[in-house]
Amino acid sequence: MVDKELYALRDEKEELPKKLEAKEREFEEKKESLLKIEEKYKDLLKQKKDKELQLATKEESIKKLQAQLYTLKTNKEYTAMLVEIEGAKADKSALEDEILAILENVDKVKEEEAKEKEKLSREESVFKEEKKKIEERIKEIEQRIAQLEAQRKIFSAGIDAKILAQYERILKNRQGMALAAVVNYSCQGCFMNVTHQIINEIKMYERLVTCGVCQRILYLEDES
Ligand SMILES: [Zn+2]
Repeated sequence: MVDKELYALRDEKEELPKKLEAKEREFEEKKESLLKIEEKYKDLLKQKKDKELQLATKEESIKKLQAQLYTLKTNKEYTAMLVEIEGAKADKSALEDEILAILENVDKVKEEEAKEKEKLSREESVFKEEKKKIEERIKEIEQRIAQLEAQRKIFSAGIDAKILAQYERILKNRQGMALAAVVNYSCQGCFMNVTHQIINEIKMYERLVTCGVCQRILYLEDES
């Protein structure tokens, strides 16, 4: 029974760090979506800056054109310049519209970012809670294993070394169950038939009798 529990505990102890890693990966992936939003935000600010620069340049050139207007000599030149100024003003107005659209997007992304941050902080506390639980369970298992191993040492001190070695070998191969009871001529490890002769051998206590099929050490239920 001690060995069966030890086997299960070691198994669990081996699985727990993998479980923790999976949780960690899951959480890291959730961080990615916030990074993407932050990236989008930075990109929008850059776009806004670019457009504002273009707007300033456009305003500057409109001023220059307007100043030149009064230096022109002919009507034809004057009319052509007015057309050019109108074109520049249209460009300017288009730029202003674009900047407004970008600002709207900036607001939206900012909102998205705040929501994602809130979500992530909730996810983080869930993850930390799970991590703590897993770490505590590992500690618990380690303590229990130490306890069981100490118990086992006391038990096995009285057993013949050769028999103990055989027992250990079967234990390793049989997922922590080295012993199997015989009930109604059937091995309870693999449920195959056990002969009369085998049962007699068990009763003689001369050697360890193992199941021919699953190799577990056989014992009789009532005389264990
Ligand atoms: Zn068997």
